Amino acid sequence: MNIFEKEKALFLQVYNRLPLKIKKGEGCWLINENGEKYLDFFSGLAVNALGYAHPKIVEAVCRQVSLYAHLSNNYIIEPQIELAELLIKYSGMSKVFLTNSGTEAIEAAIKLVRYVKGPNKIIYSLTSSFHGRTYGALSLTTREKYQKGFEPLLQNVDRIKHNSIDDLLNKIDENTAAVFLEFIQGEGGINEANENFIAELFRLREKYKFIIVADAIQDGIGRTGKPFAHQYYYVMPDMIATAKAIGGGLPLGALLVSSDYENVWTIGKHGTTFGGNPVSCVAGIVVLREVFENGLMENVIELGAYFKEQLIKLKNIYQSEIKDVRGLGFMLGVELNYEGNDFVKKMFEKKILTNCANQNVIRILPPLIANKNEIDIYLQAFEETIKELKKN
Ligand SMILES: *Cc1c(COP(=O)(O)O)cnc(C)c1O
Repeated sequence: MNIFEKEKALFLQVYNRLPLKIKKGEGCWLINENGEKYLDFFSGLAVNALGYAHPKIVEAVCRQVSLYAHLSNNYIIEPQIELAELLIKYSGMSKVFLTNSGTEAIEAAIKLVRYVKGPNKIIYSLTSSFHGRTYGALSLTTREKYQKGFEPLLQNVDRIKHNSIDDLLNKIDENTAAVFLEFIQGEGGINEANENFIAELFRLREKYKFIIVADAIQDGIGRTGKPFAHQYYYVMPDMIATAKAIGGGLPLGALLVSSDYENVWTIGKHGTTFGGNPVSCVAGIVVLREVFENGLMENVIELGAYFKEQLIKLKNIYQSEIKDVRGLGFMLGVELNYEGNDFVKKMFEKKILTNCANQNVIRILPPLIANKNEIDIYLQAFEETIKELKKN
């Protein structure tokens, strides 16, 4: 049996694995056993902000493992402190709870909302949202594809139509506990929240005092050119969940809360064995410093604008193939007029790794270190692929 057959024999078949045996990664590139290089423009699903094998992460992780890899949250863990200081500084939130993953950060938020608002008030999420796969988070992930077959889900959860002010006004009232939203939906196909919708949502919060939770698990940590995508809207949510890029490739997530919610929980109300692991935290400190303080966000702003501009040019040339170009910074989506699977395959043949979300949206999530040359390589392959598929 080769390794792909073994995988099929050994694992629950929930993943569609790429036919690629990776030996190692370097910057934005993955290298297979024959030394062939693949340009990775989905970054392990928005995780590898600093690319692969970043020397500062390698150093920080090796050093921390040689000191202690795990203590448990019974101890003060020094790397957690510096990480939390950075997260608070760049989010404007007040306190932090560290987790291992995005879905756990959402779970923590759901529990905190229920704890504050009681069992009967309604928690809303938006249509085509993705908030994770554990039961609480799955209940807010309003896509049939993920929810079907797993009922019963959490009670007193409902959905609001994405960007529909009418639906918002219909549903939100004094019985609302919270609204969870991605300011730019990732898995749903790079859907930006509309400014008027957000303005109305925050106006309603003034009136009804519900909790707004920003799911910045994918858009956070500088991916869009701001630390968190909601900052483009000049609003302050009550809580922010983040993960993915935050651990530099190691498992880490965080729930950040405003001062209104910082003292709700007392000892033992919530917890985790591994959450805030010190090795993940030292990698996270490197990520936050590189992104926020060593110029990476500027790179994203500058090259993200260039990237989008070039994609829009392609849209204008290939109008019957490309329906829309969306997103901010290094979180871009190109909506095709056809299913994206063949597109992704053709890109793979050209040794470019890209991803398709919501059937027909090519989701582009380069490492934040990507340079202009790498973006041009991607764009060239992109145009060739559009042309090839046009012929067929
Ligand atoms: C990936 C993702 C999650 C889930 O995070 P996991 O780490 O996979 O549990 C939740 N929300 C958004 C917006 C995501 O992109």
